[in-house]
Amino acid sequence: MIKPRKRFGQNFLVDQGLIGKIIRSFDTRPGEQVVEIGPGQGALTEHLVNTGCDLTLVEIDRDLADLLAERFPNVNLMNEDVLKADLPAVISEPPVRVIGNLPYNISTPLMFRLFKHLELFHDMHFMLQLEVVNRMTAEPSTKSYGRLSIMTQLYCQAEKLFEVPPEAFNPRPKVQSAIVRLEPRHRIAQVDTGVIEPMLIQAFSSRRKTIRNALKGLISESELESLGLSPTLRPENLSVEDYIACSNLISARS
Ligand code: SAM
Repeated sequence: MIKPRKRFGQNFLVDQGLIGKIIRSFDTRPGEQVVEIGPGQGALTEHLVNTGCDLTLVEIDRDLADLLAERFPNVNLMNEDVLKADLPAVISEPPVRVIGNLPYNISTPLMFRLFKHLELFHDMHFMLQLEVVNRMTAEPSTKSYGRLSIMTQLYCQAEKLFEVPPEAFNPRPKVQSAIVRLEPRHRIAQVDTGVIEPMLIQAFSSRRKTIRNALKGLISESELESLGLSPTLRPENLSVEDYIACSNLISARS
């Protein structure tokens, strides 16, 4: 048994019932290309191997990588930081399916990184902090809705599958967790990411402003009105489609 390392966000799954539920919801088939991020001590890996899928593991911790190599000698193993890995090189046969019980401290940067390589992925199942899953899947005009919701839903179809309590892990995290399923969507092809992404940063730098002020310098009041958007709305009232429309209006102009 390896001592969990806090700096790598190591909370190992120990609840066999939940491990089974995660594997069933992932539902992989023999021969499918699967990448597991952060396999740890192999709680999910063992079951994935038994499905007969074609598995690649990406684990940052050298000691855990040694343990995994010994336990699963026929599985591809990369002892790497997934935030630095050359993803197109690691994934030689896209699109792959991805699964990971992720360290919570890297979840948002990792999501934004994966969104830049969507062509590599068929779908992704992640265990994340419940609050993050709620933000990713939130609807407009709710408390959780913000830049992460719009970025996620711009790039992917996002579905919260189920919640996981702290008791399912050792050591127990301080927060609730949940499984989210992300499926790349091609809506992103309709929009210039170089326009919409900075626009979202500006829009959500102050949620209390009206969009007239929050989008100042980017889009005028009359342009907002031409899209059917009242300038007195708040950034969290606009749907993903509304932001796409604003972004496309800006792109068409320049
Ligand atoms: N999958 C195992 C389980 O469910 O028991 C372990 C999950 S634990 C929450 C997260 C795992 O991700 C750890 O094994 C940790 O070492 C690994 N990890 C942390 N940061 C990583 C990174 N940047 N790249 C790859 N693996 C990472």
